[in-house]
Amino acid sequence: MSDIRVRFAPSPTGYLHVGGARTALFNYLFAKSQGGEFVLRVEDTDLERSTEEALKMQIGDLQWLGLDWDEGPNAGTLADEGEYGPYRQSRRQAIYQAIGHFLLKNGKAYFDFRTDEELDALKKQSADGHSIPRPETLVNYEEGLERVKNGELGAVRLINSFEKTFKVNDLVRGDVEFKSDMVGDFVILRSNGMPVYNFCCAIDDALMSISHVLRAEEHLSNTLRQLMIYELLEGLHKSSDQQKEVLEFFQSPDFIGFVKDKLEKVHSGAKPSEEDFKKSEESLKKYFASDFVLPQFGHMSLILGPDKQKLSKRHGATSCNEYHTTGFLPDALINYISLLGWSHPDEKDIFKFEELVKIFSISRVNKSPAVFDEEKLSWVNSQHIKELDNQSLWQEVLPWLEGVIDTDSVNEVWVNAAMETYKTRMDKLSDAMELFAPMNDKSFAIDEAAKDALSWDSTKDVFATWIAELKTRDKQYLTADDFSEMQDAVKEKAGVKGKFLFMPIRVAIIGKPHGAELKELVPLIPTKSLIERAEKALAAL
Ligand code: GLU
Repeated sequence: MSDIRVRFAPSPTGYLHVGGARTALFNYLFAKSQGGEFVLRVEDTDLERSTEEALKMQIGDLQWLGLDWDEGPNAGTLADEGEYGPYRQSRRQAIYQAIGHFLLKNGKAYFDFRTDEELDALKKQSADGHSIPRPETLVNYEEGLERVKNGELGAVRLINSFEKTFKVNDLVRGDVEFKSDMVGDFVILRSNGMPVYNFCCAIDDALMSISHVLRAEEHLSNTLRQLMIYELLEGLHKSSDQQKEVLEFFQSPDFIGFVKDKLEKVHSGAKPSEEDFKKSEESLKKYFASDFVLPQFGHMSLILGPDKQKLSKRHGATSCNEYHTTGFLPDALINYISLLGWSHPDEKDIFKFEELVKIFSISRVNKSPAVFDEEKLSWVNSQHIKELDNQSLWQEVLPWLEGVIDTDSVNEVWVNAAMETYKTRMDKLSDAMELFAPMNDKSFAIDEAAKDALSWDSTKDVFATWIAELKTRDKQYLTADDFSEMQDAVKEKAGVKGKFLFMPIRVAIIGKPHGAELKELVPLIPTKSLIERAEKALAAL
């Protein structure tokens, strides 16, 4: 097994967005192409917006796409599977608190008791309008802790050296430099005790031995803060005394009590259990016992709408679930999404997931923004539909045909014929509903639009001749050629042509003078039904 470990770290606040799906896909492909592990980590520390339901929805979307993870919550039970758990940040709280308090105790972070109003006033007075100066005197750890325990609100800020330059070789963007003075002393633990994204993310990536962080460009600016945290974690990793100090927090009933008390106030849903506390401690020990890994970063291009603005709901469907429920094939979505910032070595547009897994290489991921084009996605979907074998396509369209036709009464020959006929006519699986509806005898009715054709003198003769022709054919189903021959016969016998021929025949088959391609449709309707329909049409005169 290689040491490649990547992660997809969604926040469970809604359905999986197509941008999130691309991040998950590229991580999955990178792991598979390198023989590495793909981890699913749930970033649910935004307790107000994260829900269990959204987590289940995202997991469902990932599964539908076939992006199976090697470690993380089990798709069915949500129970952790893997050796680097807990995999949900809400359950890893003790880790963030222990490291945060270790940093406080060692003068690498401080409690900031200034109120929001005070901070706003300071920002206004600053030269750039948003910087917050460090307080002149910092509260020492013991005093700060006492004040927090007494109910005072104090956020924890990391001390910034302001004099370092962090360099990374981004896998997509090349060399990127960040100067530490681009940010101030930033908050790592909020005054309610909740850790901020950058803090948990860097800690978890380190503790989970993540080797490559592949994510969207919008997180590039977070990388600086995460590198600053990584620097502290590396120091901690090197010193056995410091490690001991962090682990001591887990042995301190006072500290555990303090953390539980804090969490009690903010966690409405799942709180970390005793087991989670134990696992969190084990996770730290595991980290101390293994090699320190600074991940390589790769930031994928932005996904824009056709108007070149960041893709949003305003541009149409952005959730994978919406594509699922409107009849897209997961392979088609995967195919299309893979082309958002990556290109096939042979410039191919259509390929299967198995092929993608084999040929994906991070070196072909480019940094120019990708434009999400729903029309192209639809076309990609139609190509995947066309390439399915008849039986597989039938299985895919079956759910859409529930209640549209009697799917139990058809046989294999019919299924093959129907799929062969319609596989090139569907952009989406849901198109099957409209295409197949005319096959249902129960849905046959004379439409208002047929009024004109029914009023022509010649129509009665066309109907009668058509019925007579149908009765001469002793076949369960007609072929397209039979149909053409019969139309010609009616033309001759009834002495009509053009719309006076075609429209009444159409009315006799589908109840209206326009719609469905008859040469395709007629061979899929039993001759017996065609006779019954035509007789109904005749009776309607
Ligand atoms: N939870 C973050 C998000 O959903 C993850 C960012 C990252 O991959 O670091 O955007």
